[in-house]
Order: sequence, then structure tokens, then C-alpha cells
Amino acid sequence: MIGVTVLGATGSIGVSTLDVLARHPERFRAVALTANTDAERLAEQCRQHRPQYAVMVDPAAAQRLRALLADLPERPEILTGIEGLEQVAALPEVSYVMAAIVGAAGLRPTLAAAQAGKRVLLANKESLVVAGALLMQAVADSGAELLPIDSEHNAIFQCLPPHFSDGLARVGVRRILLTASGGPFRDWPLERLSSVTPEQACAHPTWEMGRKISVDSATMMNKGLEVIEACWLFGTDTDHIQVVVHPQSVIHSLVQYEDGSVLAQLGNPDMRTPIAHAMGWPERIDSGVTPLDLFSVARLDFQAPDFARFPCLRLAFEAAHAGGTAPAVLNAANEIAVAAFLEQRIDFPSIAAVVAGTLEALPCESVAGQGLEFLLAVDQRAREQAERLVVARG
Ligand code: NDP
Repeated sequence: MIGVTVLGATGSIGVSTLDVLARHPERFRAVALTANTDAERLAEQCRQHRPQYAVMVDPAAAQRLRALLADLPERPEILTGIEGLEQVAALPEVSYVMAAIVGAAGLRPTLAAAQAGKRVLLANKESLVVAGALLMQAVADSGAELLPIDSEHNAIFQCLPPHFSDGLARVGVRRILLTASGGPFRDWPLERLSSVTPEQACAHPTWEMGRKISVDSATMMNKGLEVIEACWLFGTDTDHIQVVVHPQSVIHSLVQYEDGSVLAQLGNPDMRTPIAHAMGWPERIDSGVTPLDLFSVARLDFQAPDFARFPCLRLAFEAAHAGGTAPAVLNAANEIAVAAFLEQRIDFPSIAAVVAGTLEALPCESVAGQGLEFLLAVDQRAREQAERLVVARG
């Protein structure tokens, strides 16, 4: 029995993870489930999956969870705060940790799982964007396994040979082709973008996801964060990654080799496929996903990304290129700007403007030899600067 901690159990990825886990009761056991404030959903999940630990980051929500589970004969131990998250990410009885908290809030528990040598199933791309060097070093030092959950990175992982960590050039890779749906506004007239509502931005044409990543997909910041994530996961740079807009979201990414071969991974757009892949790897296990029917897909389209329409994608490439603290600043500013857009404090085009303004205001610094506290301080400064820009634009 493999013990699993699901960080962010109440979210879109968390729910899909528990669905896959429940299909294999002889193989996996939920040891710990975590959430931020949604005590009601976490209580339902505790009743179904009977974990030993439940973490509510918010102390008031933890009290609600205690009350909601009062009648359960075998109640989970209820922990709170970020310390609770770190504790359940490193439990000895846990082998796999699904890192599915949204945003930089996922960094500390993800790092704790890596330091404890777990198989880290990484959905929380923001932790690699903020602290890529630190996280990759922790994985190398502890012997942890880092398996990508993002459908694109999981596809690339599946298309690479097992020893790709020797260097992509050494295994004959020319470049990675990272696919993007282009989000809901791919074809909208540019002048209409200032009237976009949060509901329109969250109505993704092919994927059902949490609100933050849905907005990131609409601005294509999500693809920018994924470019940075791919650089860390596959030991490459932006010159060897091409973003390809592919509206059907059937090809999840491709790897182009020196001999002219291009390998792709295809499937219906359902996150249970990459989740089951990473949970079962190197075996293949059932995910519950409907098999792909190529006849109903019928056609696959590809376009180059439009950097004028999607300035966030350009900003992310620039931050990746600059390195140092730039990706952490980009990420923090984006989190503040997206939250402000969802609260209707700024309009859709202002997301990119806030991110650009924050990057301009905070000069890029080296992260060589720096630890977590330094990065968290950078993140905090960027959030404060971005908030000032939100207020100025709001
Ligand atoms: P959701 O918003 O659906 O869920 C987020 C989860 O994180 C919830 O469990 C939430 O708890 C918890 N959470 C939120 N804030 C905090 C916090 N400050 N501290 C601790 N826990 C917190 O997000 P998604 O599932 O869509 O995305 C999760 C991650 O996976 C993101 O990094 C995203 O980029 C990545 N990802 C998602 C994909 C998808 O299809 N959804 C695809 C690929 C990657 P609560 O419910 O209590 O608020």
C-alpha cells in the first residue's frame, strides 16, 4: 500500500487525484488531505477517504472541520497552518505527495516533500517558478522523484527517453514543442479584451480548472510559467522550447529529435491521465478517462503564439531569460494581478501591465547561494509593489 498526501485536496487537481486514488484501493491509501478554507468539502473527502490527517491552513476553518467530523468514529488528526502542511508532506508513512496547492503558497510543503525524499507529483508549477534551483537541489540531495502533472510536462516526460537527465542534447533532442490551447480569447478582437469578465476568463474552452489557472490560461501567463517549469524539469533553456498554439488540446506536447522524428502524447483533455501516469509510473494504471476517439477529433490545428495579444507570455519568456529573481517577481505580481482581476478591481489587460510594472520596479538579483527566506522576501516585496500598481490602476 502506497501512502499518499494530497496537498490541495479540495481543488480541481486534488479532486481528480482522489478519483484516481479511489479506483485503486489495493494500491493507494490517502494518509493526509489538505485545504485552505473549504472545510465542508474537506469534511466530505475525509468521510470518503478516511485519512489519518487533515490539514486546514486557516485556523477558523479547522474549527469548522472539527465540528463537521465530530460524529466520525475514527476522526483524522486535524492540523493547521503552513507547519501542518509541511508536516504531512514529510510523514514517514507517506511515499507520494501530490503538490496541488495553487500559487506560491504551495512552495514550502512541496519543498518539504522533496527534502523528505518523496515521489513528488508536481502540479504546483509556481513552486518551480519561484524556487527552481532550490527545489531541484532538494530533489537531487534527497533522492526524491519529481514527476510532472501539468499535462504538457507529463507529455514531454512520456516522450523523452528514461536517461534524459544526462542532458537533452546528449539524448538527441533538438527542442521541446510546448502546446497551448490559446484560451478563450484567442480570436477575440483586441479592443474587446478590456471588457472581459472573470466568468468569461474562467470559461476555458477545453479544460475545467481552478480560477487562477483559468485566468492564467486566458492571458497565456500559464504557458509562460510552464516554459520556466520546463526549463527546470528538463534541464534546458528558452531557446530549446517552442510554444505551439493547438486549440483542440488533444496533443499535450511534443519532443523533436535530431533525426527528424517528432514524438507526441495525445489524449482527451482530462487531468486524470497525467495524474494516473505519475501515480502508476513506470506502470500504466486505469485513470477513468474516456479513450481518445480520433474520428471524433477529426482535425488538429497549430498556430504560432501572438505575443502582442498575449503580453504575459512575452514577459515570462523575458523573465526566464533574465533568470535570478525575475521569475519569482513575475509569479508574485501575476498572483496579485489575477486576484485583483477576479475581484473586479482591475480590468483584464491590466494584469499584464501590473506584472510588467512590477518587473520594471524591482531589478533582477542573483539567487546564487540564496535560500528559501531570501526568495520568500523577494516574493513579498513583489506582492507589495504589485498591490501598489493595482491600487493605482483600480
Ligand atoms: P484550485 O483553485 O482548484 O485548488 C487549489 C487548492 O489549493 C485548494 O485545495 C485550495 O484549498 C488550496 N489552497 C489555496 N490557497 C491555499 C493556501 N494559501 N494555502 C494552502 N492551500 C491553499 O486549483 P487547481 O487545482 O486548478 O490548481 C492547483 C495547482 O495545479 C496550480 O498550481 C495549477 O497551476 C496546477 N495545475 C492545475 C491544472 C488543472 O487542470 N486544474 C492543470 C495543471 C496544473 P481551498 O479549497 O480550501 O481554497
